[in-house]
Amino acid sequence: MEEERKTPRLDELERGPWPSFVTEIKRAAVKSEAADDLLGLLEKSYEDKVGHWKHGGIVGVKGYGGGVIGRYTDMPEEFPHLREFHTMRLNQPSGWFYTSEALRKICDIWEKHGSGLTNFHGSTGDVILLGTTTSELQPTFDEFSDAGFDLGGSGSDLRSPSCCVGPGRCEFACYDTLDMCFDLTNEYQDELHRPMWPYKFKIKMSGCANDCVAAIARADLSVIGTWRDCIRIDQDEVKAYAAGGLDIQTAVCDKCPTRALHFNARSGELSVDGEDCSRCMHCVNVMTKAIRQGREKGATLLIGAKSTIVKSAFLSWVVVPFMKLESPYTEFKELLSRIWDWWDENGKTRERIGELIYRVGMGEFLRAVGLPPVPQMVFRPRANPYVFWPEDEIVKQEQQAAPPESGQE
Ligand code: SF4
Ligand code: SF4
Repeated sequence: MEEERKTPRLDELERGPWPSFVTEIKRAAVKSEAADDLLGLLEKSYEDKVGHWKHGGIVGVKGYGGGVIGRYTDMPEEFPHLREFHTMRLNQPSGWFYTSEALRKICDIWEKHGSGLTNFHGSTGDVILLGTTTSELQPTFDEFSDAGFDLGGSGSDLRSPSCCVGPGRCEFACYDTLDMCFDLTNEYQDELHRPMWPYKFKIKMSGCANDCVAAIARADLSVIGTWRDCIRIDQDEVKAYAAGGLDIQTAVCDKCPTRALHFNARSGELSVDGEDCSRCMHCVNVMTKAIRQGREKGATLLIGAKSTIVKSAFLSWVVVPFMKLESPYTEFKELLSRIWDWWDENGKTRERIGELIYRVGMGEFLRAVGLPPVPQMVFRPRANPYVFWPEDEIVKQEQQAAPPESGQE
């Protein structure tokens, strides 16, 4: 009888009340030799304190230029079922809504052709299918295609656009994230399927500044819902919160990042300096019944987030403070195509758009894509020494952007 694999280090990761990926790999290992080898390799990695994967590169399937991510272990003799252990990605539906039937289909196809191990979802947003061999790639792709699925982007192309659940479940959505994600995914099939740029490009859509898809930290183009007018305050509900024991001054006003909220403890009224509100969502989150977003909704567009590659990790940077987002998203798409043209012309290999802007300057980028510099692009006055406004320009901007003075309902 085959000796049972010993994994004392991995076993530690099964302790405690939370779910454990080790438990899941052990379950898969009952049916899959690759999953069993994976337990051994992982244990070895913890023992040696190094990862035992070689740098992958891209392996191909016919009919999909974006490729599949190649994975190979550097210990193929000891773990023969991980000699090739490629990662496939499936383009996820908007907001990650599946039917049970679709999930069963994915698992059935993957158990037939791969290790059976999945990751719902990777940081791009795709379904990640962990571990198959080179010879199984094409049959897997074909079967998924026949079942109506598409591979997710990889390589130097547009990665699968992703979005929060938005209006599907959340009252805070300032635009229809689900529709926009679906629309962009269909519109940009060429960009998803063919590597055509210096490097990858990610678009992530959050319906509000709670940013549930972490667009600001991860997307080359972050689309974050916001409103142009003022938050709306219902004073009766404010009083109900106070009567219910909420310390409005401490929990809400003192935590407003721009100190735009003022609570009058004597009258029990809450007021806002609409001009100072940065639409961060804090007060709306805490006093959902009393404070609502403004009525005029759209999104802020930000550019350039990424993790460390050529330069260190960046958060994305506001380039359009407010844009209405309604199907067919023409203004957005026109801007996007100018951004891509400029990046494609000027970017070096493996240079994300944020890194290119960092190299040549925001001013150059704004001129090239035809966007005006606006105060929302800087954190606070003089935080950025490279952007200047003449005085009359500031007055003009303020007049254009001025929201109503107060948010009384
Ligand atoms: Fe809701 Fe905002 Fe989160 Fe989207 S980002 S799910 S709209 S809270
Ligand atoms: Fe302050 Fe505006 Fe954020 Fe409310 S949404 S906490 S008023 S910045």
